[in-house]
Amino acid sequence: SRVPMLIGNWKMNKTLQEARDFAQRLGQQSMHLKPGCEYAICAPYTSLHLLRVMLPAQVQLGAQNVYHEVSGAYTGEISAPMLVDFGTKFVLAGHSERRAIFGESNEMIARKVSTIMKAGMTPILCVGETIAEREAGQTEHVVKEQVLSGLANLESGEVETLVIAYEPVWAIGTGKTASVDDAGQVIGWIRQILVDQFSSSVANHVRILYGGSVKADNIASFVGHPEIDGGLVGGASLEADSFVGMAKAI
Ligand code: 13P
Repeated sequence: SRVPMLIGNWKMNKTLQEARDFAQRLGQQSMHLKPGCEYAICAPYTSLHLLRVMLPAQVQLGAQNVYHEVSGAYTGEISAPMLVDFGTKFVLAGHSERRAIFGESNEMIARKVSTIMKAGMTPILCVGETIAEREAGQTEHVVKEQVLSGLANLESGEVETLVIAYEPVWAIGTGKTASVDDAGQVIGWIRQILVDQFSSSVANHVRILYGGSVKADNIASFVGHPEIDGGLVGGASLEADSFVGMAKAI
């Protein structure tokens, strides 16, 4: 009953011309974007306006980050109302690259999640363990802490609309995916955390995606698992043909 999702995360890629080429090519193949699935591209801020104008109507707009204050002396930052202005629907929070490279803490991520929600957009809270944590048997513990702290500022009515992405750090950009069973197991744990903390009705509404080296060849096996509601895709979302290939496979 949960609508599956295919979300692209372009990361720091694409000039305006490249974004235009992507949107044009995707537009030519938009008949393959089925109504029973939700699609979005999380683009750099600089491409949001172009994509809003050019993306096929089935594909929603996402951003990759936001600052938790609404306005003020925060040089270099972008606020939630600014993103709403562009028609942005989704915003990533707590991507592992933001955690590792930019030092975002669980507390900062929790502020972003509630800021995104209060602005009327949908946060995609990203969680996942490193290889060292997995090998030390810490996966469940790490993911639980990331989920609980990420949602700490939300009420249960807000949690229902949320999206969570489980992205094991060692599977991101490596060509190495988690096995479907391992991904399904962790996502099952995440859903159980939502049951315990909120309610089973809330947990049943939340879409939980898998991310990490997802592509057209493997997305069907992940989405075929009853716990996995879609994919958050980096590299394979950069080419329109490959985005469409994944859309066809779901
Ligand atoms: P890749 O699909 O390139 O492994 O990246 C995954 C990711 O980080 C999406 O947010």
